[in-house]
Amino acid sequence: MSELSEKLLMKKENAYKTASEEERAEIYSYAEGYKAFLDGAKTEREAVRYALTMAEKKGYRPYRFGDPVKAGDQLFYNNRGKNLFLMKIGKAPLETAGIRIVAAHVDSPRLDLKQCPVYEDSEMCFFKTHYYGGIKKYQWTAIPLALHGTIVRADGTEVDISVGEDENDPIFYINDLLPHLAQKQSREPLGEAISGETLNILVGGLPLAGEEGDAIKLGVLKILNEKYGIVESDFLSAEICAVPAMKARDIGFDRALIASYGHDDRVCAYPALTALLNTEDTENTVIVVLADKEEIGSEGTTGMQSVLLNDLIEQISISLGANPRLVREASACLSADVNAAYDPNFKDVFEKANSSLVSCGTALSKYTGSRGKSGSNDASAEFVGRIRRIFADGKVAWQSAELGKVDAGGGGTVAKYIAKMNIDTVDLGVPVISMHAPYEAISKADLFATYRACAAFIDSCK
Ligand code: MN
Ligand code: MN
Repeated sequence: MSELSEKLLMKKENAYKTASEEERAEIYSYAEGYKAFLDGAKTEREAVRYALTMAEKKGYRPYRFGDPVKAGDQLFYNNRGKNLFLMKIGKAPLETAGIRIVAAHVDSPRLDLKQCPVYEDSEMCFFKTHYYGGIKKYQWTAIPLALHGTIVRADGTEVDISVGEDENDPIFYINDLLPHLAQKQSREPLGEAISGETLNILVGGLPLAGEEGDAIKLGVLKILNEKYGIVESDFLSAEICAVPAMKARDIGFDRALIASYGHDDRVCAYPALTALLNTEDTENTVIVVLADKEEIGSEGTTGMQSVLLNDLIEQISISLGANPRLVREASACLSADVNAAYDPNFKDVFEKANSSLVSCGTALSKYTGSRGKSGSNDASAEFVGRIRRIFADGKVAWQSAELGKVDAGGGGTVAKYIAKMNIDTVDLGVPVISMHAPYEAISKADLFATYRACAAFIDSCK
């Protein structure tokens, strides 16, 4: 390469290619911890529990509103078991240094059970579902499913369930139509060939001996009653999710990528979490948010639109004698969520120069949104410039990316809700292949680059 092209041209490079032998080993070994997290945390509740266990091992302890805080404190706020805030209080003055925030989400697209789910038809017992988040419905038929969730009984007692993950567990299943009889279905648009009301989960087929009527349904309810102490009406106050009963597995002869359910957004949550737990920086105050409900618009008490993050910043500021408005103004946030990786099989929806390429590092999106950046946070040039310098200093492998071609579709995430609080925010995350499919794919190099990015950001000076 000539001196001039070296100086003037920007190039995107494969992070495996630029990594040393030791760095490659580090990338692969970091991925093992991530895969364990994926398999141990398939819902937001399980992800919060998993993260809490890790944080408690590092000495994090519960925070209650009104508690005084001081430099050196490592605290967590567990919001209803579905949304977790991890807070590390630093020595740097809050009004000038601000708070470093990394926000990722731990809910993923899936099928939720309806509140009256159980019925029997044609010698089979089923659970009715209502899908959660943006799914392609046809992808959820004829694959192994597991059920995870929490049931609150009539007397207020609770029971957690998880069936289908252990090799000896049964799995659950959604019927599909055989190709022999799918002439009409095959002509329907992809989005309509499988309707939401046909996503019924097969959960049983053994009639209870000596019973007339819905003997299979009764048999299933009897098993549930013996195992969990529940009756049919307890589904009314339950949150049960059907998720793919598949474990995270390496892809390829060289194991460069990982296939799993729920990379979106655990592939950013895990780097955010581990970057915080591994940091030795004592200067910066840091908050890592593991949010819920991102996939349905960040709504509700556990989504990023709730006032909680603002409340926590205010309480910490007041306790340290700082003005919360000045603290927010000085703060900065990485909205850590996945990006759509350029896929050569679907070239026509991408504009390659502005798409993220697999293994070329964590993807920074100045803006997201759709139809003319609508719904986007659109980070300022100044803030992106600051992040660039942080990543350069931290030797982070990163690339700039937007989600697909102009007007091909689009999307958005939590960035705008944090930016609304007068906090500079930019989107950053791992490029994903087959995003929102039951089994998504990512590169280990991009996972590790996101970890390095979170770590560099958390430790950065203002
Ligand atoms: Mn996401
Ligand atoms: Mn998503």
